[in-house]
Amino acid sequence: MTKAAQIPGAITHAADSPPTPPPSPAPTSDDETYDICIVGGGPGGLATLSAAIEPYSKDKMGRDNVKNAYASGLATKRTAPKVCVVDPGDTWMHTWHERFKALQIKWLRSPMGAHPDAFDVNSLLAYATSTGRAHDMFDSGVDVKKFRTVREAHSGLLELPSNKLFEDFCQDLAARLPHTFVRGKVAAIQGPDGDFSVSLEGGRKLKAKAVVLALGVPGPAACPAELVKVPARFLFHSDDKLGGRLQELGSARKKEVLVIGGGLTAVQVAQLAVKKGCSKVFLASRRPLVTRHFDVGEGWFDTRQGSRNQSEFFDEPLEKRAAAAKAARGGGSVPPLYMRGVQELETQGRLSRKVGEVQVTSVNDDSVEVTINGRVQKFDLIVNACGHRPDCLQLPVLRELQRVEPIEIVGGFPSLTPDLQWGSFKQLFVIGALASLQVGPDAGNLMGLSRAAQMATDAMDINSFSKYKNSNQSVQGWYQTNRFAEAFDSDSDSDSDSDTDSDSDGEIEIERAVEIPCAA
Ligand SMILES: Cc1cc2nc3c(=O)[nH]c(=O)nc-3n(C[C@H](O)[C@H](O)[C@H](O)COP(=O)(O)OP(=O)(O)OC[C@H]3O[C@@H](n4cnc5c(N)ncnc54)[C@H](O)[C@@H]3O)c2cc1C
Repeated sequence: MTKAAQIPGAITHAADSPPTPPPSPAPTSDDETYDICIVGGGPGGLATLSAAIEPYSKDKMGRDNVKNAYASGLATKRTAPKVCVVDPGDTWMHTWHERFKALQIKWLRSPMGAHPDAFDVNSLLAYATSTGRAHDMFDSGVDVKKFRTVREAHSGLLELPSNKLFEDFCQDLAARLPHTFVRGKVAAIQGPDGDFSVSLEGGRKLKAKAVVLALGVPGPAACPAELVKVPARFLFHSDDKLGGRLQELGSARKKEVLVIGGGLTAVQVAQLAVKKGCSKVFLASRRPLVTRHFDVGEGWFDTRQGSRNQSEFFDEPLEKRAAAAKAARGGGSVPPLYMRGVQELETQGRLSRKVGEVQVTSVNDDSVEVTINGRVQKFDLIVNACGHRPDCLQLPVLRELQRVEPIEIVGGFPSLTPDLQWGSFKQLFVIGALASLQVGPDAGNLMGLSRAAQMATDAMDINSFSKYKNSNQSVQGWYQTNRFAEAFDSDSDSDSDSDTDSDSDGEIEIERAVEIPCAA
């Protein structure tokens, strides 16, 4: 693979790249013209880069077709598209890295089979093995008998990668895929379709034939109504400054902490507060915590059942899909590993769990007084760990797009085409949590991202798998018909049975969300 192209003001993904100063305006030139512009340098952006650059996906082809692909020289004949990735961070996975660091998360919730390499579901496992990192894999006690994809379970694909392993893998993957990394924040995308102008804050403009928006969260922080009037000195969202404010936990005046939320992030914040020496830590949720390995049920992992679930999901009218996705995620859940930790801390008297309504009764100079189930408690700090509220038009890029090319918004999510396009723009795609209505309950996690990235790049018709298919009718295109029909076909090649679903952290936790912005 060639190295990433160097353009003025752009940085490559090399691990030793020095920090880049903030972006400065630069004129558009041929150097700034791309086949594909990916907006967002998280796992979704990386999955898109991988799907765009790889000549084909081994996972999406049967065993015979992989042989045909090699035999036809598919991989070597293809000219890779020219791709740029735009992100405000100084390198790939900046947002992910900061979040995981702030919460001191050691293990991913999702398994080894979930990662952004579009070529091969086994890539992360192979990376761990080839770099002698078996100690970076954790058997979290998933009952493999419950998974009909037992072959995968036994091969380690259901074990959890450490975050260090996962981040190293992503950096390694990015370094192998030619692209240009542009540091900046996209302010607007303008047409015409197929000849987009991507405007960055600061005035710089890029040109691209296709654009993929991999922006991450589907809207602003969710804020329980009862917290709206709490001043920012006593309250922050767990994702505020990408978790930066979590540093306040345990500091001299922040010893008594209330964490609100019913998903994994809330548990991680509560555990962090204990670890940082807070003398009183309460974890309050409206409903009891639900224990579950992954944030979608095990049925979503089974190849056939998962495909059936997907199929049923797409049979629902759009209006019902947001609720169906939420139901499939169980409204936020906590893996057994973390539940055991919570129970231990409770037994030691270092953490109290409360189920019920929280009412803020008064805000004092140095504390907030709240009532939980009728009992008054004082806290120095409240951490809102209720995830993000789907409200895509709060994101400036989408608000601007909606102005020029209005589409239906359902439950806060954009109503994209089945190929994840925005309205009549055939070359403008949205992936990630924002694409929940078209991708399914796992849209915001690593498995859903990979699927979406593949869908978008397939629809661009830039990958040679499609070219190969067009020139030689012998290749079976799984995506040309019902994407999920293959799994119901008893003759289907088991090699392509890799469409496992996994968890997210409950990124979209709307348990207590209301339509009002936080005062904090
Ligand atoms: C604490 C935590 C733990 C999680 N653990 C897991 C896990 O173990 N497994 C799992 O599958 N999922 C997990 N998730 C869900 C996780 O967020 C997603 O899997 C993953 O980060 C989503 O990737 P993404 O690329 O869609 O979004 P992000 O990782 O959020 O990346 C989006 C990027 O787009 C950039 N961006 C946004 N707007 C613009 C713009 N206008 N211009 C340029 N760039 C822009 C952002 O700065 C960001 O860097 C976790 C989430 C949290 C909060």
